Amino acid sequence: MQDCIFCKIVRKELPSYLIFEDENFIAFLDIRPLNPGHTLVSPKKHHRWVWDVPEAGRYFETVRMIAKTLQKTMNTEWVVADIGGMGVPHAHVHVVPRFPGDGHAEFVNAQNVKDIPTEEMKRIAEEIRKGFHRANSE
Ligand SMILES: [Zn+2]
Repeated sequence: MQDCIFCKIVRKELPSYLIFEDENFIAFLDIRPLNPGHTLVSPKKHHRWVWDVPEAGRYFETVRMIAKTLQKTMNTEWVVADIGGMGVPHAHVHVVPRFPGDGHAEFVNAQNVKDIPTEEMKRIAEEIRKGFHRANSE
C-alpha cells in the first residue's frame, strides 16, 4: 500500500514517536493523543481491519505488553484499549492511559485531543521505550 500513512511509518518513510517494533508489529504514539502516552499498535503488514490480522494471538500479546508498560511508565493501572477503524485504514489498536479527571468517560472521547508539545511527545516516547526494555528484561 504505497499511500498508506502507517505503511510509510513502518517503512520509516515518515517519522513517528516509535515505542516498539519487532518483525510483525509496531507501536508508536498517536500524534492526536487523547492522553499522554496514547499509543497505536499495528501489524507491519497492511490489513484494513484489526479483524483481518491472522496472527491475532501474537497481536494481542503485543498490545498487552504495551499496556503493561504504559501502566508502569505512565504511573496508572487504568489503561484502556479501543478498536475503531474510521481513521487511518490500516489496522490499529488504540492503547490509552487513563487518569482521574482526564476529560473522558468510561470510553475515551475522540474529540478530547490533548495539546502535547513535540519535545514532550519525544520525552514520553523515550520513557515508554526505556520502560519497555526494563519490563522485558525483568
Ligand atoms: Zn498500511
